[in-house]
Amino acid sequence: MRPDGLSEAVLGHKRGALQIDSPLAAMAGIGPKRAAALEARGIVTAGDLVFHLPARYQDWRERTPPDDLRAGNIVVVEGDLGKISERPMRGSRWRRLASGWLTVGEMRIRVVWFNLPAYMRGYLPGGERVLVRGRVAAGLDGGIEIVQPELHPLSDGEPKAIRPVYRVPSIVGQRLFASLVARALAETGSSIRGAIPDEVRSEVPAVRDALGYIHDPPPDADFDALANGESRGHLALAFDELFAFELALSIERIRSARRSGIALAGFRSLSARMTEDLPFVLTGSQSRAIEEIGADLARPNQMNRMLMGDVGSGKTIVAFWAMIRAVECGHQAAMMAPTELLAEQHYRGFARVCGRLGVKSAILTGSVTGAARSEILRELSTGETGVVFGTHALIQERVRMRGLALGVIDEQHRFGVFDRAKMKALGPKANLLMMTATPIPRSLAMSLFANLDVSFLDELPAGRTPIATEIHTEDDIARVHEELRAEIDGGGRAYYVVPFIEGDEDEAKSVSATAARLKKGVLHGARIGTMHGRMVTSEKDRAMREFRDGAINVLVCTTVVEVGIDVPEATIIVVVAAERYGLAQLHQLRGRVGRGEKPSRCCLVASSDADEPALERLAVMRESMTGAEVAEADLRLRGPGDLLGARQTGALPLRFVHLIRDHRTIERARKLADDWIRRDPSLASRESEGARAAVRKMLALGFSLGDVG
Ligand code: ADP
Ligand code: MG
Repeated sequence: MRPDGLSEAVLGHKRGALQIDSPLAAMAGIGPKRAAALEARGIVTAGDLVFHLPARYQDWRERTPPDDLRAGNIVVVEGDLGKISERPMRGSRWRRLASGWLTVGEMRIRVVWFNLPAYMRGYLPGGERVLVRGRVAAGLDGGIEIVQPELHPLSDGEPKAIRPVYRVPSIVGQRLFASLVARALAETGSSIRGAIPDEVRSEVPAVRDALGYIHDPPPDADFDALANGESRGHLALAFDELFAFELALSIERIRSARRSGIALAGFRSLSARMTEDLPFVLTGSQSRAIEEIGADLARPNQMNRMLMGDVGSGKTIVAFWAMIRAVECGHQAAMMAPTELLAEQHYRGFARVCGRLGVKSAILTGSVTGAARSEILRELSTGETGVVFGTHALIQERVRMRGLALGVIDEQHRFGVFDRAKMKALGPKANLLMMTATPIPRSLAMSLFANLDVSFLDELPAGRTPIATEIHTEDDIARVHEELRAEIDGGGRAYYVVPFIEGDEDEAKSVSATAARLKKGVLHGARIGTMHGRMVTSEKDRAMREFRDGAINVLVCTTVVEVGIDVPEATIIVVVAAERYGLAQLHQLRGRVGRGEKPSRCCLVASSDADEPALERLAVMRESMTGAEVAEADLRLRGPGDLLGARQTGALPLRFVHLIRDHRTIERARKLADDWIRRDPSLASRESEGARAAVRKMLALGFSLGDVG
């Protein structure tokens, strides 16, 4: 250690030995505070820097002609900047108003900043030739002004024609961040390897070139394409990622096809009786899914299948059927759900639908303890218990099963696409069925998951009355409350979703304040319960149980209620501050009602300060009934740069892919992946180095790579 306290390693980095995995803290300009602020955004290493893409771009390419210096336009003007003066702003302890005059030929433009950006303090002397970029506004004195402009002194030479703007913490700032990215790119660039092997990349730019293009676009780059996140750089990154994704799926599929599993053939007594006894008729797609799954289970290799279907399409019953198949063939089955409540719902549902078949079932969650737990564990290990439902507890505890032939993961997107490994501990040869309401259009899902075995449920059970969706604003909440009152008086139950918990930013919209207000006011006499994410699980479950059983008939809650809950008596859901949520999430929330015979309604209440685009987005919910329709509209409305993330796709490990935009290239990426897998099945060659790393990253949540290690 040197006297100045810097370790040799850190100095080594500072001297230019920057590697992809070098910590940012080793870079000049990054102290502990900035490092922490960046880490909070997931930027920890030099590699993270270069994959943190600009959120948007500024166009500095051309000076705006004088005629276009009109209010509303974003302009770039060259002029002489006079002295900038700063004074405290009235009514604010923190803000200082800085202003000065820019002389452009005959014209004078006032430039104003609320709090001068730190980088500009050095330019303060005034009298400099500068470029100013910003939006023109009408000034007080009839002239024009530019508020909060970007400034570029021409003594620094011409500015970058197209300047990236990053989403970064304010204590880091644009300039420092851009310089860090530039350094990281320059020094680690050659070691950045894409997934696509150079041999087959053909005209697609290499990932490092794509990154260079995105962070430092050439002056003649297509500005609009960059700004829309559709430049050739962006497309190349997405394509590389799609390639890795398809490769990972393909490897998984090949591998599970090779793994010997437990073949479930013959012995159809119980499953046949189950379908005969059902209180309803299976939908066409349920029957088709059952057939596909049955055929898959009968094969001697491991099943690895996804069951996709919209909220309420009836996935559970299909899973029950498969579980019964396992049992009638002399084995066991397990179903894992993300919450205790859901596990319990499945457990009860199974008892209701399959109770007469004489299959012993159990539930194993964190709250099953003591002697009861020991007994369940014993009966699972002896095989007395045929099917078990549970949460993570199923895979975390030392659960032994005598012969698990089928593992089902419900709401799979809550666990991750490649999380199948989690079930492995329970039965290494077990077949796997993953269920998800992945809200992407079906055609898209079909091409994206072509390398996965998928069954689709694409119709809702008959007899459902569509949910009437209404958009309201806060101003007419009284009307919503009348509807609510009527619904409750008619024997229905209601969800009332608010955005906050006590102590959050807007007390009036918190769970407890809302519940109290409703109780005293319009819902006087109703049995009101509450539920939110800061309650411990047992409290949440109690609230949900009381609601399910009717002990309470109004549940005021946050969005914790969204996953999979099935209370057929619930006929109305009110969502306050609805503009805060993504459409996919609203669709999930809406899916909490409309699960019984009675007609249901969903009242989306926009805040009074919601803007026009937000209201337009909400309006989509009125027209779009299926998850696919909602997803499609959501994707189209979402701005560029706000790419389809984990939330929307259901834990798909895709960062740069925009599924709608890249729809047509999915097929190409898959074909390339399949060709490469045929050429180098174990990704062992030197050319596959990048592919191997990318696939390993894709699968990182799941399991060891074995032969692709
Ligand atoms: P999801 O696909 O969202 O998991 P569920 O499996 O919870 O949907 O099913 C929703 C509701 O529809 C349940 O109450 C279930 O019993 C019922 N259901 C399932 N299949 C049918 C059918 N073919 N006809 C009528 N109701 C059905
Ligand atoms: Mg479900």
